[in-house]
Amino acid sequence: MTIFEKIIQREIPAHIVYEDHLAIAFLDISQISKGHTLVVPKKSYPNLLSMPDDLLQHLIVVAKKVAHAIEKTFKPEGFNLLNNNGEIAGQTVFHFHIHVVPRYSKDELHYQVNSRKEKDDLKLIAEVISSAL
Ligand code: 5GP
Repeated sequence: MTIFEKIIQREIPAHIVYEDHLAIAFLDISQISKGHTLVVPKKSYPNLLSMPDDLLQHLIVVAKKVAHAIEKTFKPEGFNLLNNNGEIAGQTVFHFHIHVVPRYSKDELHYQVNSRKEKDDLKLIAEVISSAL
């Protein structure tokens, strides 16, 4: 059982900000910015690829509701929505979740993806991906 299932079942405490029959949202225990919230399906799926489409749609709407509430209250200037899939991508809890990370002008966060030096054939990459959709 993941730590999130324990939160859903009230076996361990969390600061829950929203709940419905499919989803729950609670503050991340390590707040990377004020209001950093996790949006989590009640049923456990390990990652994005295993999520049913309708549930995924619901979760993004919940993430939007949470973002609206944070916007009204803490007045961030923007948000990052993050979802890590796989250990290599930084996933530590293998129960799908969306991070809602409010961004403030003076925060210390620097979200940056470094570009690689290798020159890829972007046309070919796009073709390979689109042929698999
Ligand atoms: P991931 O790294 O898998 O994308 O994100 C997992 C998140 O869960 C981390 O940001 C971590 O701080 C948070 N987390 C881990 N354990 C707990 C916990 O017991 N309670 C809460 N509220 N958050 C947790």
